[in-house]
Amino acid sequence: MSALEVHRKAILNCSFCPKLCRFACPVAEAEARETVTPWGLMVLVDDVRRGRRPVDSDAAEAWAHCTGCGRCTQVCKHDNPVFEVLKTARSLAVAAGVAPQAPQAWSLAPLAVAPGEPGGPVQVLVGRAAPEVIADTLAVLEAAGHHPLGPPALPLPPGWRRGAEVGAPLALPAGAFEGAHTLITLDAADAAALKQHPAARRAKVLHWVQAVEGRLPEPTAPVLSGDALYLDSCRLGRGLGVYDAPRRLLAALLGGQVREAIMHREEGGCCGAEAGYAALDHSGPGRVAQDAVADAPDLPVVIADPTCAAHLAPHTGRRVYPLARLLARALVARAPHPEKHLEEPVP
Ligand code: SF4
Ligand code: SF4
Repeated sequence: MSALEVHRKAILNCSFCPKLCRFACPVAEAEARETVTPWGLMVLVDDVRRGRRPVDSDAAEAWAHCTGCGRCTQVCKHDNPVFEVLKTARSLAVAAGVAPQAPQAWSLAPLAVAPGEPGGPVQVLVGRAAPEVIADTLAVLEAAGHHPLGPPALPLPPGWRRGAEVGAPLALPAGAFEGAHTLITLDAADAAALKQHPAARRAKVLHWVQAVEGRLPEPTAPVLSGDALYLDSCRLGRGLGVYDAPRRLLAALLGGQVREAIMHREEGGCCGAEAGYAALDHSGPGRVAQDAVADAPDLPVVIADPTCAAHLAPHTGRRVYPLARLLARALVARAPHPEKHLEEPVP
């Protein structure tokens, strides 16, 4: 039986649907073509499932045009798990040797954990955030009582979680987190993947915002004098259901108000950074980022996931701040990079 048969019902739901979620897909909207709508991607999957076409490079290239943002599933009356089906389709493309190279390379770039000591009880997966954001987040975690935290030390095998998103097998050894009771990630996508991985089943997995919420002292002065726009990352919001905690943390850092994008919380958009999509040599990922803030007031943008911040900043021209950077500035007297100023929003 084809690996796609387990998704038969979801595939058929989409194949017979009049594209009811087309408006919700940030990639379809940005690229303005039917092939990359959730419906278009799933019809390709159905053609492969029925043996009407092979798994070829054209199908694999199309399947790479999905960020896994979950907006289609969120608006679908069937809660159809489009990205789950596409991950299976992508794995068939990898097995057939026709998957596009750039997302594969993206998935294999090194990731690292930052444990107090290898095998320690609290381990932090720093992923591929910029060194300044890693230092800021570790400092905030320490201020919240998660310590001792050392410098990034223990490299994880490549492709451990993003590999699954582009169809490659997970490469995380079963004992990777032996002895850890808490695993803290900087990116929500890493937390979501860890929650499903056998190597992490004995540990509590938290996004860093969850790990610090309610454990930090009140800032004594605003870090930004006016309003700021909080953007939900799709993986932290729809993925982990974390909406209020980052807003509360940000509100305490502002002289003004937390402002919202038109599409926010459960209906929040997507920046285009995840699931290998941003690695494609294509204008779509940049346009998705621009669309994410297009209707929003011209204010500093704050987002909790460092991968999103790093993707939004160059494509939107906005001042984009990782939330951890602002928190570190406010709360940590011994900030690890005191020479870093807020005039440098994203490293
Ligand atoms: S995800 Fe739902 S709304 Fe979107 S095409 Fe499939 S069945 Fe239709
Ligand atoms: S998960 Fe997001 S990017 Fe992928 S098809 Fe659905 S709406 Fe489009």
